[in-house]
Amino acid sequence: MPLFRATHVADNIYELTGEALQRRGIRLLLADLDNTLVPYGVPLPDEKLKAWRDDLAAHGVALFVLSNNRHEPRPRTFAQGLEVPYIGHAGKPKTPSFFKAMEQMGVTPQETAIVGDQVFTDVLGGNRAGVTTILVKPIRLAGNPGRYVRYAIEVPFRLLSAGGEKV
Ligand SMILES: [Mg+2]
Repeated sequence: MPLFRATHVADNIYELTGEALQRRGIRLLLADLDNTLVPYGVPLPDEKLKAWRDDLAAHGVALFVLSNNRHEPRPRTFAQGLEVPYIGHAGKPKTPSFFKAMEQMGVTPQETAIVGDQVFTDVLGGNRAGVTTILVKPIRLAGNPGRYVRYAIEVPFRLLSAGGEKV
C-alpha cells in the first residue's frame, strides 16, 4: 500500500536542511503544525524554529503551514508568528488544500514536499496529491489519551516507512 508509505522518514523537522531539500528540487515545504513543528498548545514559534525557516528560505524553499486544526486562531496565530503562509482546517488527507497551497505558491507537486507526524493525514494526503512525503515522529503524545490510540493504530503503517530513505 504505497499510499500509506512515506518517501522519507526523519526523527524531527530539524533533520531536514534547506540544502538537502534544495538538492532534491523542493521549493515548497508544507508542514503539519501540531506535533510536527511544535507540541499541541504551543502558540508561537521559538527562535530555533525561526532559524530553521530561515535556513530553508536561504535555499529557496518556502515553508507553508498546512494544519487540520479546526480552531481557526491557532494555525493563524502560529503562522503569522512564523511569518509564513498557512491553511487551517485543511482537511488532510483530502487533497484540495494541497493543490490550493501549490497554486498559491506557484509550484508543481514535483517541487513540493509535506512533512508531518501522522500517516493517515499527512502521508496519505501527500501521496494522493503527488508530493514528496516526509514522516517525522510526533513530538509529544502526552496530554490526550486519544493521541496514544491513534498513534498505536498507525504503528504498522509507520513501519512501512521505516526503511525509507533519510532526507
Ligand atoms: Mg500532527
